[in-house]
Amino acid sequence: MTSHTHYIGRFAPSPSGPLHFGSLVAALGSYLDARAHDGQWLVRIEDIDPPREVAGAASDILQTLEAYGLHWDGAVRYQSDHLLDYQAQIDAWLASGEAYYCTCTRKQIKAAGGIYLGTCREKHHGPEQAAVRLKSPAAILAFEDRLHGTLDMDAALAREDFTIKRRDGLYAYNLAVVLDDIDQGITDVVRGADLIMPTGRHIALYQKLGKVAPRYLHLPLAVNADGNKLSKQNHAPAINRADPMPALLAALAFLGMPFSPDWRSAKPGELLAEAVKRWSIATLPRETEVKTAF
Ligand code: GLU
Ligand code: ZN
Repeated sequence: MTSHTHYIGRFAPSPSGPLHFGSLVAALGSYLDARAHDGQWLVRIEDIDPPREVAGAASDILQTLEAYGLHWDGAVRYQSDHLLDYQAQIDAWLASGEAYYCTCTRKQIKAAGGIYLGTCREKHHGPEQAAVRLKSPAAILAFEDRLHGTLDMDAALAREDFTIKRRDGLYAYNLAVVLDDIDQGITDVVRGADLIMPTGRHIALYQKLGKVAPRYLHLPLAVNADGNKLSKQNHAPAINRADPMPALLAALAFLGMPFSPDWRSAKPGELLAEAVKRWSIATLPRETEVKTAF
C-alpha cells in the first residue's frame, strides 16, 4: 500500500543579497515542516524587482542552501520566467473591468490619509505613468495561522483596491506570489511574520481566482538588538557557507529546538534529519519577533 501525503511547500527568497540569519530561519522552518509531512520542498527565486537585485545573489543563495543540506525538489523556478503569465492575468482583469489604471502617486495617497479610496476607478486612465489596481475583492478580515490561530487584518487595508502592477511597470509581489503558488500547487506556506499583513490580500486573490488558499504558518521574525528586522538593507551579515553548523544550530535554537553542542561536529544532513524528527509547532516561539545576536 502506498500512502500519499499531499504537501507541497516552498522557500521563496528575493535575490537582493546573500542569505542572512533571518532568511535561513525561513528556509529552515519551511524545509523542516515539508519534510516532517513527507512533503515536497520547492525553491522559487522571486526576481521581479531588478532595482533591488544584486548580481550573483540567486546563485549565491542556492549554493548556500546546498552547503547547509537544504536540498530542494525539482527545478528552481524563477519568477522572471513568468512575467507573461502575470501580464495575461492583469490584461484579463483590465478587459473585464475588474482592474483599472491609477495615476495617483504615493504622495497623493498619503496626503489623502494613506488609504487608497478608489479615486481612479471611473477615470478610464490609459497605461501611461499608471499602476494597475484590482477592484477590491471580498475583504478578508481574518485568517487562521497554524501557529498564531486567528489573525485579524486591518479592515481599511482589506477593503483597499490594491496594486497588482506598479507605476514603474514592475509586477506586484502580492499578485506574483499567489499566481506562482497556485501554479506550483503549493499547499503550505511557511514564511516570516513580516508577511502576515499581506496575507489577507493573498487569500482575497485565491478567492477571486476560485482557488483554495494554502495553510499558513508565520515564523517569528529575527530582529537585531534595536528591534529591526535582519535584512540586506540594514546590513545583516551573510551566513558562512564554509562552516554551516554554527548558523544551523543557532537557527534551530531560534525555532525552539536547541541541540546539544555535541552536534557541532555532525554533518548538516545528519542534523537536519534529526531536526525533522523533532520538528513541532508546539515548541515554536509564539512571538512574531525574536531578538537574535547571530
Ligand atoms: N520573496 C519574499 C521575501 O523574500 C517572500 C515571499 C513569500 O514567502 O511569500 O520576502
Ligand atoms: Zn488613482
